[in-house]
Amino acid sequence: MRHPSSGPGLPAVPDIAAALAWARTHIELIDARVLLRHVLQCTGARLVAYPEQRLADAEWAAYRALVERRAAGEPVAYLTGTREFYGREFLVTPAVLIPRPETELLVELALAHCAARRGVRVLDLGTGSGALAVTLALELDAPDVVAVDRSREALQVAMANAARLGASVCLVLSDWFAALGEERFGLIVANPPYVAAGDPHLAQGDVRFEPVTALAAGPAGLDDLAAIVGAAPRWLEAGGWLFLEHGYDQAAAVRSLLLDAGFAAIASWKDLAGLERVSGGRWPGRK
Ligand code: GLN
Repeated sequence: MRHPSSGPGLPAVPDIAAALAWARTHIELIDARVLLRHVLQCTGARLVAYPEQRLADAEWAAYRALVERRAAGEPVAYLTGTREFYGREFLVTPAVLIPRPETELLVELALAHCAARRGVRVLDLGTGSGALAVTLALELDAPDVVAVDRSREALQVAMANAARLGASVCLVLSDWFAALGEERFGLIVANPPYVAAGDPHLAQGDVRFEPVTALAAGPAGLDDLAAIVGAAPRWLEAGGWLFLEHGYDQAAAVRSLLLDAGFAAIASWKDLAGLERVSGGRWPGRK
């Protein structure tokens, strides 16, 4: 990449319009705007209202560095350190998966099935940034939320998110259920790794920079989903619900895992893109 400040017609330290015009030649406009807002700590409206405002030297240097990293493929969320999920801003680092809009479907389903139950005990498996656990802690009525992850770094991110958003979540270092005791939950949710290990998707775009341990799960991507469904009954109350996010082509496989494990009211739900993205069921009680 040519050094921007030496480019023809570009002042050593440009104004907002020139900085965006330069960035636009390297990355998408939407990313160029988000990164500039991050550097200037300002609203999108300010970028529009004051195009002639000059950047400070340090701001221009910081912006150039971020645009170059974005041009090399790094996800915007890791560059700004944040991503919105269910209307709240979450901190994210490369130790955690970047929350996706389709995962909001899991929140909606959990709320639809459990909102009436004051004090419901909730377990989020593989919490990562804590997006699901923190959102459920804030949206349900006085819930008791436990969130596990086997990554210490991820738990630190989740802890920071719970603290800054004022959510009460009990965070536990655990490989799925391994460190949990003899407790039972009314709701278990998980967005586990579910991409097939050899899927070319893993070598493309933003996903390349995310923790592969949060993405890939065996030859068909079903290893973790199967492990969770198989073990969940031991940790569910009678009448408790399990909801799992999965790949666009895994709904039938997950429903059959749920059936084999003895779940009732098994169903799959579509995300906004029309893809079956979450499956779940109700645990009828000890067989
Ligand atoms: N939906 C993510 C992707 O396709 C995968 C998330 C996951 O494995 N839990 O990149």
